[in-house]
Formats: sequence, C-alpha cells, structure tokens
Amino acid sequence: MKRSLLALAVAACSSPATNVATTPAVAPAPAAVPGLQAAPTSPASSAPVLHGVYLDDLDRSVAPCTDFFEYGNGSWRKANPIPASMARWSRRWKSGEDAKGQLREILDQVAAKRDWKAGSVEQLIGDFYVACMDEAKADQLGAGPIVPMLGKIAAIKDRAGVVAMIGDLDRQGIPVPLAVNVQSDLHTPTEVVATVAAAGLGLPDRDYYEKPEKRFADARAKYVVHVAKLLQLAGVAEAAAKQQAKATFDLETKLAKASLDNVALRDPRATDHKMSVGELQKLSPAFDWTKFLGGGHLPVVPLNVEQPTFVKEVQRQLTRTSIADWKSYLAFHYLDAMALLLSKPFVDEQFEFNDRFLQGVQEQKPRWKRCAELTDGLLGEALGQKYVEKYFPPPAKARMKTLVDNVLLGMKETIEHLDWMTDATRKKALEKLATVNTKIGYPDKWKDYSAIPIRADAMFDNVIAARTWNLDDDRKTVGKPVDRGRWGMTPPTSNAYYNPSLNEIVFPAGILQPPIFTMDAVDAINYGAIGVIIGHEISHGFDDQGAQFDAQGRLENWWSPDDLKAFQAKGKCIVDQFESYFIEPGIHHNGKLVLGESIGDSGGANVAYRAFQIAQRTTPAATVDGFTPDQQFFIAWAQARGDAIRIEEQRRMVQGDPHPIGKFRVMGPLSNMPEFATAFSCKPGTAMVRAQPCRVW
Ligand SMILES: [Zn+2]
Repeated sequence: MKRSLLALAVAACSSPATNVATTPAVAPAPAAVPGLQAAPTSPASSAPVLHGVYLDDLDRSVAPCTDFFEYGNGSWRKANPIPASMARWSRRWKSGEDAKGQLREILDQVAAKRDWKAGSVEQLIGDFYVACMDEAKADQLGAGPIVPMLGKIAAIKDRAGVVAMIGDLDRQGIPVPLAVNVQSDLHTPTEVVATVAAAGLGLPDRDYYEKPEKRFADARAKYVVHVAKLLQLAGVAEAAAKQQAKATFDLETKLAKASLDNVALRDPRATDHKMSVGELQKLSPAFDWTKFLGGGHLPVVPLNVEQPTFVKEVQRQLTRTSIADWKSYLAFHYLDAMALLLSKPFVDEQFEFNDRFLQGVQEQKPRWKRCAELTDGLLGEALGQKYVEKYFPPPAKARMKTLVDNVLLGMKETIEHLDWMTDATRKKALEKLATVNTKIGYPDKWKDYSAIPIRADAMFDNVIAARTWNLDDDRKTVGKPVDRGRWGMTPPTSNAYYNPSLNEIVFPAGILQPPIFTMDAVDAINYGAIGVIIGHEISHGFDDQGAQFDAQGRLENWWSPDDLKAFQAKGKCIVDQFESYFIEPGIHHNGKLVLGESIGDSGGANVAYRAFQIAQRTTPAATVDGFTPDQQFFIAWAQARGDAIRIEEQRRMVQGDPHPIGKFRVMGPLSNMPEFATAFSCKPGTAMVRAQPCRVW
C-alpha cells in the first residue's frame, strides 16, 4: 500500500516496540517517573527503589486468567481514549507521538537561528521544516506546483511517451506501476542488487479489487469517487474526472489481479527471480529497460524481478490499454503522491480517504507533527543526530547492549534444550544465532545530506530533491559489496526490525524509551517489555521466513527434512491459533499472514523469560507492589503491547498487516506459556491456558 509522504508513522516495519534494562546495579538513583506508582506495598529490599508495573493501568475487576489484555492495562485504555488523530493508542503509541513533540522542539530551536552554514545539519533540517510549516504559501500556490508535470503527462502521444513518463515519475520517487528497490542479493548477500517490485495500486492490496465482501465493495466504490475528486481538484472537469477515475480503477484492477496476495508475498522463494536485463526485456518488450535503468541512475546489470507475472501484465496493458487511460492513471498517481504537499483541499481529500475511511481516524494531525514526520522521513539521519544527542545517552546504549546479550544467551539455551531438533540442524541454528549482528540507537556513520538543495521557501522542491537524493543514495550501492553500516530506519523511529540477508537486529533510539525501555525500572519490567521485543527480532531469524536464510544470510536450506517438518507442524499450531481470533463476527486473523510475527512474539516471550531467569542467577529480582518477579514480567508485556485500536484499523490490519492486533499479541503468546499459568495460578480450562499450547522456540 502506498503511504503518503506526510504520514510516515510508527507502524512501518516488521516489529513491535518496547524497552529493556539490564541489572538494577547500573540504574541511576530512584526516579519519579510520571504516571508510575511509588511501590508502597513493596516488601523490604535493600536495592534502590525502582519502578515495577504501572499499577494504575491494571483493571483488577478482570481476572488475569480470563483476559490478561484487559487485566494488564484496561484502566489505562479507559482513562486514555484514542485521540481523534490516531488509529491506535497505548502508552507505547503515546511515547511515539511524544517523541514527535521532542523533534518539534529541536526543529523550532534550529529554525529560530537563520545563519547556519549552508549544507550543515542545522541548515538542512531547519530550512526543510520552516518551508514545510508555511501552510499559507502552500494554500496560495494551490495546484501550481504540479502543473508542469501534469502538462507533460497530458502531452503524451504514444506508448513510448507512457514508458518515458514512468521513468520520469520514478526519478521523483513515485513508483508506478513498477518499483525499483535495492536489496542484498538473496543468494550472495554480500552484494547489492536492484529489484523490480509491483506497485501503483491505490487500494491497499489485490483483495480490495476482486473480493465480493461488502467491505471491499465499499472500498472500491469510495476509491473511484476519491480518484475523481483528486482529479477535479487538479482542474479536470467533473464528467471527465469521473471517466478518468473509472479508467484508472479498471487498469489497476487488471494489474492487481496479476499480483501476488499478502500471504504469497511473505514467501521469499515466491519473489526470487533474478534475471539479466535481456531476459527482463523479453518479458516486457514494450518497456525499454536499458533506458529506464540508465535514466534512474541504475547500472544495467542482472536484477531480481519479484513478480514476473505482474511485469508481463504491465506489458499486456501497455499494448492493450489506451494511451488516454494510461495518462489518467499516471496523472492520478502523480497527484496522489504529491497531494499532501499542496493546498488544504488536496490534503483534506487525502485524509478523508486514506485516514478517515481506511483507518477510522477522525481528525488530521497538526501540521507541525506532519512536518516533523516528513523531516524525519527524508532527512532522518540529520534530525536523528540532534535527537540522540538529547534523548539517547551512552548509558542507555550500554544497558541495552547488556540486555541484548542476555536475550541472545536465552535463545542459545533455548536452542540447546529443544527436544524436537536433531543435533545436525541444532548446530546450524546455533551457528546462525552466533552471527546475529546487533545495531542499537543510531548508525556509527551518518549520511551526509549536504548536497541536497534545501531552501526555507520551497517545500515542494525540497521534498522532490530529498526524495531523489535518497533514491540515488540507495541506488549507488547496486553492484557493490554491501555496506553493513547502513540503517533501514531513522533513529527517532519507534520500531525495530530484523534483516534476514544481513542477519541483523536493529533497535532505533526511538523505541528505546519508556514504556519499552526504562532506565529506572526493575529487570522484570525491562525483560518483559524490550526483552520480549529483542527476543521477537531474534526469533524473526527463525520464523517461517527467516528460517529459510542461513548464517551467511543466503536463501539456502539448512534444515534436515525431518526437522523442517517438525518446525512446520509447530508453525501450523500457531496458524490455527490465530485463525481462531476474531475481531468481529465473520472477520478473524489470517493465520498464515501473521505467522512470522506470531512466531516472533511467542519466541520473544519464551526467550526473554529465559533471559530474565538467567539474569536472576546473579541479580535476584524481588516482589514489588505485591507482584512476583514473573508476574511483573508478564504484566510488562501486556502493558507494552496493549493497544486500543479503531475497528476500521483492525479490519485493515487483519486484511493486510502481518502483525496481529495488540490484544492477540498479548493473549496469543502468553496463553501458550505454562510459566504464565503458574505465575498467576491459572487453571486448565481458563482462556489464558490453551489446551494444546503452541511452542516453536
Ligand atoms: Zn516483527
């Protein structure tokens, strides 16, 4: 699904978010954390007073064995309704939004001074933000900034013109209908290759174009109206806009039907089709690939074509769909990509469809927040330098490192004790675990954006310049040895990820904040929150996708046939578990879609629990506020993960997001753990004790 420029928000990647702490010995003096209870009922302890669970967040009217999601932080959700501008809300989401307030402070301070050296970090982010904040100017310009490109699209006369325009749009970072991305080679991960992916669909995925259910039919009807409205705002007459919207939708429908669905897209082997440019040219003779790649600053060398069937369909439509209809399609997608940079009517129309209709959000975020997000999205390693100076001190990094080391040790002991894996495969699994690379906080070497021409009075040009620079910064790596120092997220991002080709786990500073990582929390809290997230990312290396990559990051099998069968049977248990989780009558999680993330959560909880026990060998934990160390650990996960989510957003996630919704990320993994049942004395037959528990790691 295309995401709007100004909406680069928290949920982007393949991971949860939390915080970790190492041993209390390192902790600073007891601190007053806003919203935290002081731990008055805590039994006597000589250790410094560190905070335990968020007592006020608990809903003690609910039995923990019945609904641990409600028990863990039902009271917080009742007291903190989802803000009108958000689709999801929890302490962790609030922390992510608060971080944008911190970015705003940094940007306001930098922008207050006007004589920074040209090309300096301060000049770039300050001027970018100032230009973005000039709403009056955007309103005054109206559709002005997009007129030149729309004129070029209108002037297209033939198929060669369509193909050339696809290249022009690619230069501005607008991938229609194909996206050229950059990644490590799936079989030689030390080298970087370009990939050709399917793109250019305005609805979230292929199901929206063809499934008969009412929610998809409604989305189709709404979408066509939305396309027409945007075209009208750009000056197309009403009748023509309606006709062009219909043509755009029809072309997208044909392309969508030739694309893989969300489950198939999770299979790395289904998207592994490396070929020469000559072979690609044969797939789509109407598309001049040599010219396209050259114009896109890419070398003409073999590349991975993720979906050959989709490329063939683009070829078919280049010969069958009229030039007029292609022009409508390209004009709409150009508008769609630029609308948030234009005047209020464009911004409002994007909000109505993408946010209100698809996600249930009631109100736009304030402009300062959208501009802070945009600055982070395009100049994240400049803004990120200022952010980590203030909000991620070296002791936090050191403590996080200890936590990661312990969770890795937890995974090692887990693998060593598995009863279903033979020694030959175990040896390979341990070898892979031993090569996991960890990145914490921010890159060792920052990107140098000084060549990007950023001006304080040119929002539209700034965005195009920054997009093109970022595109080229990625593309210049193609054909070269991989640079392992690069990051796939910016430092202020409240998220984390695992990259299978580099076998690395990455935790930006933005997620290493309370309630996920808390310097003055007891170990139980940090292991239960960031510890589970660390375990989650490690487990991604051993989920249904990650397990297909070996210790060197190659897409190569390292499993014996019997071990692979046992692993898949354990995955099937989780698939079935999540298929049984409904968000409303008739709509439940797609077990295969959420399998990887759920193996991650389940493995994460198991491994972090083990790591917490390991930590207690040297630093025993205490009962705090009447909760045992194990109880604190499990409550910490519920409090870190317990999102309230609008129903529209739940439907969207169940359809296309590989992550389950927060409720089932709490109940799913914990109801599989006998350690949880023991901690809360849950009896067989209660909701939090599954009769046939699933356990992979
Ligand atoms: Zn994940």
